[in-house]
Amino acid sequence: MSREINVTQDCCSSPGLIAVDEALRKILGAGATVEQTEVMDLGNILGRVLAEDVTSTINVPGYDNSAMDGYAVRSVECTEPGVSLTVSQRIPAGQTGVELEAGTAARIFTGAPVPAGADAVVMQELCHQQGDVVTVNAAVKEGDNIRRAGEDIEKGSVILNAGTRIRPQEQGLIASVGQAGVNVRRKLKVAAFFTGDELVEPGEALAQGQIYNSNRYTLTGLLHSAGCEVIDLGIVPDTLEATLDVLKRAAASADLVLTSGGVSVGEEDYVRIALEQLGELSMWRINMKPGKPVAFGKVDNALFMGLPGNPVSVFVTFIIFARPLIFKMQGAENYLSNELSIRSGFEWKGVKRQEYLRVRVRQDESGAYAEIYPHQGSGVLSSTSWADGLVVVEAGKIVNKGDLLKYIPFQGP
Ligand code: AMP
Ligand code: MG
Repeated sequence: MSREINVTQDCCSSPGLIAVDEALRKILGAGATVEQTEVMDLGNILGRVLAEDVTSTINVPGYDNSAMDGYAVRSVECTEPGVSLTVSQRIPAGQTGVELEAGTAARIFTGAPVPAGADAVVMQELCHQQGDVVTVNAAVKEGDNIRRAGEDIEKGSVILNAGTRIRPQEQGLIASVGQAGVNVRRKLKVAAFFTGDELVEPGEALAQGQIYNSNRYTLTGLLHSAGCEVIDLGIVPDTLEATLDVLKRAAASADLVLTSGGVSVGEEDYVRIALEQLGELSMWRINMKPGKPVAFGKVDNALFMGLPGNPVSVFVTFIIFARPLIFKMQGAENYLSNELSIRSGFEWKGVKRQEYLRVRVRQDESGAYAEIYPHQGSGVLSSTSWADGLVVVEAGKIVNKGDLLKYIPFQGP
């Protein structure tokens, strides 16, 4: 039997580097879901993951109600336009009417319960009221403009499954069935530190050769957006001692330790060495650009991921590896980034590593396409602010305008 060979990868992949997909599989395989759960008030669950299904104890809407401001009628009395009826009652939202008698209509407002006997609502623009008589200038059908009881949610049905991440709309949905709190998984604790003798905090003056610690703000922001409890351990000098010390503290307090910088092979890179001394390193070189050095392993009970120092690499490797891992550990059902197909709006010559280019989705006569940020350097943080996602260019691939590329939005699943 002949073996299938992926020619593109075979000719161009870099030896000794782990493929992105394989690295992601390994990383995800190590991520166990946090066990502890807590019941939280509805106002405090944004970004949390449901620990159990949410079931509704009521119908929503709870009763047949009007979708319009207008008149509630018996449809059999209004099969032709031009019928006149006596307006016998007025039902604003929040009140209930009485049974509608034959030959009458009820003035009714959006959300008000449809009175017994009525089976349709005619919008007010199609009616003309003079005194207490309304003329209906339309042919009416049963059910017109009535929102049926239970049409959104049926009593007893599951409205959200365990594993759902709460966005504003889920928060609203839970509120709509009257629940004041839900059982969610506890926040994932993520400790972060930032290595580099050149780093200075914003607000301080820069001396020659120093740079601001931008990764701290990118990474802690990404972690907060991902619903984590962040343990920010700040800047760590480039010494083995300091790195060992902070790594011990980080691992003791967190489910996951994330770092930036110090994972290459330079003489000033101590993160990987510290990890090997205190725990275990399971891999650290990945076939991607930006972001080749990503160290992954374990210290005591905490997982460890050492991201590169370059600001764009931090952002990209977080999206590709750290965020799916975090989402999985949080118990989210959808933890993988969305991958869409998009037309390339540019030409590109692939390099030996798989590339993650910063792009923005644009629209022309033929639909959506990816526009590329002109400066793709791993230090050009402006590219991440300008872009809305990444396109993936396989190793060695020539991209022509119009080719379909894999697009990964920055926005999570
Ligand atoms: P390293 O991986 O430590 O060699 O760092 C690679 C590059 O990223 C160097 O140019 C560093 O100055 C830069 N860098 C490292 N850490 C940070 C940080 N926290 N914020 C901004 N840039 C950084
Ligand atoms: Mg460094």
